[in-house]
Amino acid sequence: MFIGSSAFDILPLYCKLNRMFPVDKIREDFPILQRKVNGNPLVYFDNAATSQTPKVVIDAIVDYYENYNANIHRGVHSLSQEATNKYEQARITLQKHFNAKYAAEIIFTSGATHSINIVASGFSALLNEGDEIIVSALEHHSNIVPWQMLCEKSGAVLKVIPMNEEGGLIIEAYDELLSENTKLVFCNHVSNALGTINPVEEIIQKAHHYGAAVLIDGAQSTPHIKVDFQALDVDFYVSSAHKICGPTGIGFLYGKKEWLEKLPPYQGGGEMIESVTFKKTTYADLPHKFEAGTPNVCGGIAFGVAVDYMNSIGLDAIALYEQELLDYGTQELLKIEKLKIYGTSSYKTSVISFNVNNIHPYDIGSILDKLGIAVRTGHHCAQPIMDFYKIPGTVRVSFAFYNTKEEIDVFIKALKKALIMLG
Ligand SMILES: *Cc1c(COP(=O)(O)O)cnc(C)c1O
Repeated sequence: MFIGSSAFDILPLYCKLNRMFPVDKIREDFPILQRKVNGNPLVYFDNAATSQTPKVVIDAIVDYYENYNANIHRGVHSLSQEATNKYEQARITLQKHFNAKYAAEIIFTSGATHSINIVASGFSALLNEGDEIIVSALEHHSNIVPWQMLCEKSGAVLKVIPMNEEGGLIIEAYDELLSENTKLVFCNHVSNALGTINPVEEIIQKAHHYGAAVLIDGAQSTPHIKVDFQALDVDFYVSSAHKICGPTGIGFLYGKKEWLEKLPPYQGGGEMIESVTFKKTTYADLPHKFEAGTPNVCGGIAFGVAVDYMNSIGLDAIALYEQELLDYGTQELLKIEKLKIYGTSSYKTSVISFNVNNIHPYDIGSILDKLGIAVRTGHHCAQPIMDFYKIPGTVRVSFAFYNTKEEIDVFIKALKKALIMLG
């Protein structure tokens, strides 16, 4: 419980949640946070690359393999039915969490990259020469390369919404790019390299005005922001479980039913057919049409448990607490001489990308690792952003709701030490 006595209820929600955010208790849910790295307590600030896994999710994985490991959907036996029920229950958990209209609109995939490729591949059958696809300049490589491949195949043209110095998108330029030729728009909800939250509502509405479909990459938003697919009126939305306290190798593709019915299947195989003869195969209904082969049953079930876990804390409480970490981390970093933060939009998640002077990010990251601190260095799969700033990469720290201000203090102290060494 975060809400205290009724006396607290008159305080702004922010104070109430702040005061009560039980981070110490939450940290006990994550076994890995107890370990040491190079003799120092682990400080894990690489949450934008992958989040850590709470015990309930680990237990769900063990429970699956110890008690009801089976192939799903086809079995008459009890184990298969139990596994099928839990897997389908997880789909419903995701449907409810994201407010999709139908559970069948949630397709389990191996992750965000796989989900994007399903849409890109499907659209190659729907596009014609001269059609246009718009992507944002803030994209992860996994949201650039599939569209380039699609353009090569279909003769469509790729256009890019440019970014500004703050690390935001220039929406007026987007207005200029849109036309009757626009068939698809792709944008991430939150930039993994900078943390910028993009105005996806506006991007979607404007695209729909021209009849274009929109895919939003939510790999960085879903761990931090409550997302409502129907309210957004988004056509496709993707994310990976491992960024939301779930395991690797599982994610989802959400698509509006009309769109998923229109798209051809991505892979052929078992599970995705209604009937097969050598003359003609008819495809199964959604979601099975896109789930060829034996799926990651355990992963899907564990994904559902991870979403339940996040909801037990509350995404609103998480967002407020992470904002506090972001503000504190930003304030402390800016006290360091010659430190420059990339991505200074006032509307961002708990990601801070920075460089100090001309010191190579890799050198800073290596010393921090020796001190037990995990950060990411490099181009963060977003080379176009680095090109924009004319830098090879950055040091990126990304906070999750199980991080603390004390850890930020440890990190700042270690960073100062590293800078003296690299001086
Ligand atoms: C992590 C990430 C992806 C790719 O996710 P995978 O799990 O590697 O498929 C795509 N887009 C963004 C913004 C990401 O942060």
